[in-house]
Amino acid sequence: MKTCGWDDELPEDVRQQWQQVFQDLERLSGVHTTRYVKPTDAAGEPELHLFADARSQVYGACAYARWSTSDDSADVRLIASKSRVAPLKQSTIPRLELMAALLAPRLARTSYIEMKMKPQVFLWTDPQIVLHWLKTESSKRKAFVGVRVSEIQSEWNPNQWFYVPTRENPANDLSRGLKVQDVGKRWFQGPEFLAQPREQWPKQKVTETSEYTEEDKVSRPCFAFKRDYSMTLMNGERYSSWPRLARVTAYCLRFIQNLKRRFDDQDLLDGSLSPEEITSAEMYWIKQAQKDLGDWTETCADLSPFKKDNIVHVGGRLRKSALSYDEVHPILIPSGHVAMLILREAHEKVYHAGIEQTLSQSKLRFWIIRGRNATKKLVRNCVICMKLRQPAHATLMADLPPERVNVFSPPFTTTGIDLFGPFYLKYGHNKKRKV
Ligand SMILES: [Zn+2]
Repeated sequence: MKTCGWDDELPEDVRQQWQQVFQDLERLSGVHTTRYVKPTDAAGEPELHLFADARSQVYGACAYARWSTSDDSADVRLIASKSRVAPLKQSTIPRLELMAALLAPRLARTSYIEMKMKPQVFLWTDPQIVLHWLKTESSKRKAFVGVRVSEIQSEWNPNQWFYVPTRENPANDLSRGLKVQDVGKRWFQGPEFLAQPREQWPKQKVTETSEYTEEDKVSRPCFAFKRDYSMTLMNGERYSSWPRLARVTAYCLRFIQNLKRRFDDQDLLDGSLSPEEITSAEMYWIKQAQKDLGDWTETCADLSPFKKDNIVHVGGRLRKSALSYDEVHPILIPSGHVAMLILREAHEKVYHAGIEQTLSQSKLRFWIIRGRNATKKLVRNCVICMKLRQPAHATLMADLPPERVNVFSPPFTTTGIDLFGPFYLKYGHNKKRKV
């Protein structure tokens, strides 16, 4: 860029350019265009066509109204155009093309409002990369492209964008610049194909080009968490009682069992639930809960756990004791809803005794991870315990009598006695007498 002072004479090349500009401005008076954009033989509603194009220094968009005429052809007229000087900061051509593509919808909005009609809008541009951006999700792009694509997509459907070959794009005249004598039919009446029926318009499928798409793709870190989320039989969270959950589950399991038995022509299970059915229902929920244990060989290594019948038990150090198997090797339960149900059951079994008693009752069969904290929480929130642990109300004492509060009276002015006989006197051997 050249710098000149206000009073300096312009360099020769710049002076010639300015002269050219002023000569062109004088010639502008010879350019004529129709003032009224609606042709006299127009039929029906118009269509609004917008073309966008960009070059390294300029980008712009122009809008045309296309009217179907009574002789089955079409009349196209320029209604508005807008151009911008490209930012001084170096930018890639696709990005400038995108800025032009952003100008087109803005111009469309203005034209749409000014026309006071609801014409069908067609947006045209030539770079495949921009068309590809406009037809994909804005969130997948980096900020520059994403923000602009998002603005365009918020108002116009991606299906309204079409490909126009570069040589037929009238916005080319904007970005390239035209001398006044070169302003011709294409500028005022749009590309030739617009006057043709819609079937003869250029068609090109938008294909993904790798040239710039990779550059503008956003790479986001993604965390995947894999867990075996097999569907549970029912929603255990809806139950607040361990025995009730076990019974309902046992009936569900019996129903499934009966379906299989019916298929095999066997006798159906009926009547009251057997202890085995309830135990298998409990085992079902214990297995479900133990899915949250993760790698129990690592995380619970200090409990020397082992697996028996697909249930994880605590190994412990009591193998040589005379306690029952369940007490020596309690089932390992991670903290969660099942753990809370088991603790609540234990708490009720010990008639709402304290934390230690509840925990010790639960340990007869289960080892709950972080059980003490869970028990504290349970007891603290237990409504019955809250009622039982309320301090007794103290009775309000009556006023002290005047004899006790009046001062300056000599000692023994008033005397009282709290207790009186009869007294038993002992005399002789084993003899008592009242006095
Ligand atoms: Zn309680």
